[in-house]
Amino acid sequence: MSTGRAAVSIVKGAIEETPFEYSERDLNTVREMIQKSLDLIGGLQPIIGSAKTVVVKPNLVEVPFETTGGSVITDPRVLEALVGLLKDHGVERVLVAEGVSVNLKHISCGARKAFEESGLAEVVRRAGGEILGWDEGDFVPVPVPGGELYREINIPKSILDADAFISVPKLKTHCQTEITVGMKSMQGVFSVDDKVDYHNEAFPWKMVDILRVLKPHLTVVDGLIGGEGYGPIYTDPVEMNIVVTSQDVVAIDAVCSALMGIEPFEVPITRLGHTEGIGIGDLALIDVKGESIASVMKYFKRSGMWNPIGASDRIRVFAGGACRFCLAQVGAAVKRLAYEGKLDDLEDICVIIGANAPRPIKDYKNVFIIGDCARDADIKGTFIGGCPPLPSIQIVHAFEKHLKSGTKNENKERSSLPHRISS
Ligand code: SF4
Repeated sequence: MSTGRAAVSIVKGAIEETPFEYSERDLNTVREMIQKSLDLIGGLQPIIGSAKTVVVKPNLVEVPFETTGGSVITDPRVLEALVGLLKDHGVERVLVAEGVSVNLKHISCGARKAFEESGLAEVVRRAGGEILGWDEGDFVPVPVPGGELYREINIPKSILDADAFISVPKLKTHCQTEITVGMKSMQGVFSVDDKVDYHNEAFPWKMVDILRVLKPHLTVVDGLIGGEGYGPIYTDPVEMNIVVTSQDVVAIDAVCSALMGIEPFEVPITRLGHTEGIGIGDLALIDVKGESIASVMKYFKRSGMWNPIGASDRIRVFAGGACRFCLAQVGAAVKRLAYEGKLDDLEDICVIIGANAPRPIKDYKNVFIIGDCARDADIKGTFIGGCPPLPSIQIVHAFEKHLKSGTKNENKERSSLPHRISS
């Protein structure tokens, strides 16, 4: 159990532009916001000292759809401002690094390509940083003292070689873990093969185990545009215009939960992080500096769609003892097909999930049995295994085979972000 106290700072700024088109004006505003938030927790010097190499990890879980309005990945203004601040502090090499998500791997998109296609590579280079894809580099097995699931975890060598590690997550809700901010962001550090492990109700232990051996020296949360609803990929934007900063990754998650109108200990990862002594998750033990939570918080839409039962009359879901992880994978597929305008053009699909799922009386032509728990279901159909089946895009592709003839198989535009148009 964590004792002691933690400090988290919240700074709100007068943001006027967008992540898609911004000028020196917004960039300077965000830079001042980050600087002020750092000053409120004691400044950068005590945190990274005279570090020569710093690894910065943004959230780049997807090359997002335009319709998600800047609510999915780390805002380029935050990344450009932070890299600039680190360079001005005297850091010689700022390596902006991310792994490749299982969804991106499935469509053969490596981290470097995702950086380029999302436009983040351009702003990092402009600020003097370098791009690094962890899928291109070495991982080193690191022992986990006190680990519950892992004796050792493979960590990117670039982080181990660096003098400091800074995480820059987005403020978002998540369909499986309630929120995704600082702690959940550590999933991005695992190699793509290790990412699929424990992506179920064991997930909080997985995050706690990696944090036992690798804690960010600093977390800077991009809360310019928050993501509400079906995170991590299909969120809707919420204008917040804040940055949140802390050295305590559990405390920052607790404060960010509250900023989204979610009770911190409702989030299993935060609860476990607190009870396992990773950091402080109890708001009563956190000194909030700068803005108060009450003055800037908004009630975010939760990921209610994680349960896809009744979400579409084309995809009928029959669940037995299914957990939210399988349900969320199917929910994500429903959401994506809706984004792509294909949902109404599907033939009827029947989905069986979980142990002891009911067998519908009606004869469905297109039956999918999803998740290892449903493997022995007493019905014929296409089995998509895994616990849960990852990535959700494979479920989308399987369902897409049942588009009514004549439906166009087109993708919605992704956001390639042309940043900073004038000075
Ligand atoms: S197979 Fe699916 S429903 Fe069963 S435990 Fe795994 S994630 Fe949950």
